[in-house]
Amino acid sequence: MTIATELPAELAPGTAEAPITMLNPDFPFSYDHYLAHPDGLGTVPPELYGTEVAVIGAGLSGLVTAYELMKLGLKPVVYEADQVGGRLRTASFPSAPGVVADLGGMRFPVSGKAFYHYVDLLGLDTQDFPNPLAPATSSTVIELAGKKHYAATPDELPEFFHEVAAAWKAAVNDGAAFSEMQEAIRARDTSRIKELWNGLLPQLDEQTFYGFIAASTSFKEAGFAHREAFGQVGFGTGGWDTDFPNSILEILRVVYTDADDQHRLVTGGAQRLPEALWNHAPSGMAHWPGGTSLASLHSGSPRGAVDSISRAGSGDLLVRERWGREAAYRAVVTTCQSWLLSTRIHTEESLFPSELWTAIERSHYMQSSKTFVMVDRPFWKDIDPETGREVLSMTLTDRLNRATYLLDDGPDKPAVILLSYTWNDDALKWLALSAEERVKLMLHSLEQIYPGVDIASHIVGQPITVSWEADPNFMGAFKANLPGHYRYQQRLFTHFKQDKLPESQRGIFLAGDDVSFTAGWAEGAVTTGLNAVWGVVNHLGGASRPGNPGPGDLLDELGPISLD
Ligand SMILES: Cc1cc2nc3c(=O)[nH]c(=O)nc-3n(C[C@H](O)[C@H](O)[C@H](O)COP(=O)(O)OP(=O)(O)OC[C@H]3O[C@@H](n4cnc5c(N)ncnc54)[C@H](O)[C@@H]3O)c2cc1C
Repeated sequence: MTIATELPAELAPGTAEAPITMLNPDFPFSYDHYLAHPDGLGTVPPELYGTEVAVIGAGLSGLVTAYELMKLGLKPVVYEADQVGGRLRTASFPSAPGVVADLGGMRFPVSGKAFYHYVDLLGLDTQDFPNPLAPATSSTVIELAGKKHYAATPDELPEFFHEVAAAWKAAVNDGAAFSEMQEAIRARDTSRIKELWNGLLPQLDEQTFYGFIAASTSFKEAGFAHREAFGQVGFGTGGWDTDFPNSILEILRVVYTDADDQHRLVTGGAQRLPEALWNHAPSGMAHWPGGTSLASLHSGSPRGAVDSISRAGSGDLLVRERWGREAAYRAVVTTCQSWLLSTRIHTEESLFPSELWTAIERSHYMQSSKTFVMVDRPFWKDIDPETGREVLSMTLTDRLNRATYLLDDGPDKPAVILLSYTWNDDALKWLALSAEERVKLMLHSLEQIYPGVDIASHIVGQPITVSWEADPNFMGAFKANLPGHYRYQQRLFTHFKQDKLPESQRGIFLAGDDVSFTAGWAEGAVTTGLNAVWGVVNHLGGASRPGNPGPGDLLDELGPISLD
């Protein structure tokens, strides 16, 4: 059902071979090429080797930042309030620790080349993720308004769903130059990408996702039922109607770059990636002896939660931990959700321009909830003798659960059901409920869709549930801009290039997926971490290698335009 896989070949003439990458139209900088370049990411003057740089947050962004700073000869000092991994958090079921559940990021588009640079470097295995109607999914059920449709492949769905997909395809082609943009992304034609995107931005910044589809000729002609079904079933990863109030620009960034397509999971859990970055000892570092890793530089554990960031009289930045320890740095990178800079961390106001504070405060986060149970085996593959169909399928529904995913590691082993993965209003419905109450309601919904299938009898152990908005170290799942937020995003993203800032506001860098243009995708956590590395290196007097210009070197040429 993804628009990308359904596009006829003639819509991408002559470019079928080149893959789509997450070359973001706001800043189409090829981070994958930059990372793969044999010259590396830059140099710092040898007299600065060993200089400490504070990195706040040991999620993916903080660890990419710290890992690359270490390779360049600096000494990252990582602070973490909770676990190494952040929103790449994998929980184990206590009675079978090898059986895992990814509570945050769980499916990673192959177009996210910077993310996979690290997956490959660290030798992690990946597998196809069982999305609705994906090749790795043996069957999918779409249940809307009490009517159930079973399909092993998209072709088996009723004509109505094909009309919905066609209306969406036409809407993005007519209103957002979809096929031209994908062609330019395949060709890495940055001037064409910029030309297309810079033309669309002023028209679309103030449009919601819903407003965009409702105004499109194709959905107007198709009628409300098609819009409604599109919201329920969406594209690629399932229902998107909880995204309807968000800016259409957010959705376009996802579909242009195939971020909704060809997802893979990290075998053993997504947290293995940040953990591997923490433990890995890279070869050929500028300063540190072989065998040095982030873990060894920190004697095994990051420093604690940060409580305040301020400017010392010396000009250095002072970082104080919640339990009182204080240290001074010439440069600090913050990678936690940026709301935390005004809510949980006392950040001296004068460290950022007031327009940047406005951008931080206006950030809009999605809520998200997931509930998993472990079952004795992947019983859903049993065939119902009456219908000849699998007894339970990957399910999209307009009931409370919204989306149920089935994850197994082969027959005769415990398996996992992600009973419900929800966003926004749908996630808030779970927020006040205990894990047990959540599971009961979810099973009740599934009983209506699969009468007679006794899911509960297969459950073993305790359920695992999360509501990211309830965790004080996150306060939300991931950012999603509302209409009119482009200016804020542009300020946040470009802040790492600080040549126009006064001295008193330099040296503190923002990174993390909410600073990126593709929040909610780990690729943005990686790429903003690389921006911060460039910022720190330049701030301290280092530079990119001439043959491998970095993101800050090309920001003026390729960067997001100003709408003012
Ligand atoms: C429900 C959900 C589903 C997702 N699904 C996907 C997906 O399928 N595919 C995908 O690509 N991406 C997905 N994402 C996004 C992905 O998880 C993120 O992009 C990525 O993990 C963000 O990494 P980060 O380092 O930017 O931030 P974080 O992981 O949030 O790291 C920031 C760290 O800062 C720490 N911190 C907070 N306060 C302090 C403090 N005071 N002092 C020190 N440390 C502090 C936090 O504990 C945290 O560890 C999902 C996210 C969520 C929540």
